[in-house]
Amino acid sequence: MTEDSEVLRYLERFGYLSPGRERTDDSTALALARFQGRLNLPVTGLLDENTRSAVDFDRCGMVDASDGLALKVSCPWGSGELRYAFGTPCHDYEEAFDAVERAVATWAAVVPLVVKRVENAADADVLVEWRPADDPDHSMVGKVLAHADFPGQCWSITPDRPKPLHFDDSEHIWCDGAIRGAFDVETVALHEFGHLLGLTHGTVAGSVMYPAISSHYVLRELQPDDRERLGVLYPWSTSSEES
Ligand SMILES: [Zn+2]
Ligand SMILES: [Zn+2]
Repeated sequence: MTEDSEVLRYLERFGYLSPGRERTDDSTALALARFQGRLNLPVTGLLDENTRSAVDFDRCGMVDASDGLALKVSCPWGSGELRYAFGTPCHDYEEAFDAVERAVATWAAVVPLVVKRVENAADADVLVEWRPADDPDHSMVGKVLAHADFPGQCWSITPDRPKPLHFDDSEHIWCDGAIRGAFDVETVALHEFGHLLGLTHGTVAGSVMYPAISSHYVLRELQPDDRERLGVLYPWSTSSEES
């Protein structure tokens, strides 16, 4: 059972409540209602069972909102080329880098960018690494599986390069495919790379950019909501031509 204080910490961590601001019953109810709305739960403004179990899901470390409101991130990747490299590997699953490459290729097929792997971190725009949950650039302690960053002026982790695409290698188990208790690398990499292209969290359950997932789950194809939102960010992309 998730404690009330844990739910409130979650609402702060993912942008529904401002840390340090005095809380009233009204502000908490509003934050709960916004969270429920974004996760497509029945909107009650109450700490009900649906809300407690939603808070218990494993998820992405990027915020859903800022001060309770949907993030206004409208930065596509700013140059025509995006180079990524690999750093510290995954200790559970040897072929994890290949799974990330497949996820990157899925996006590369629909964005108007040249996306390529380079060998040295010094030449990379994005560095893919498995890190301890207590990650210095963005804590993944708890239910957080991974994090990335947004491009350009929309950054939230670092304005510098290489940008992070970091997976938690101490509190989650990684695998290839749907395995109980473990997480499919390609599924999570596909979600995180969406952030690096400028996408925020979507509200449609079952889409790639939905923030929460369970173990034993595979989603390796872009969904209509992902394509539609990518098409807004890159009006010249091919995402709207394929359905
Ligand atoms: Zn995310
Ligand atoms: Zn990190």
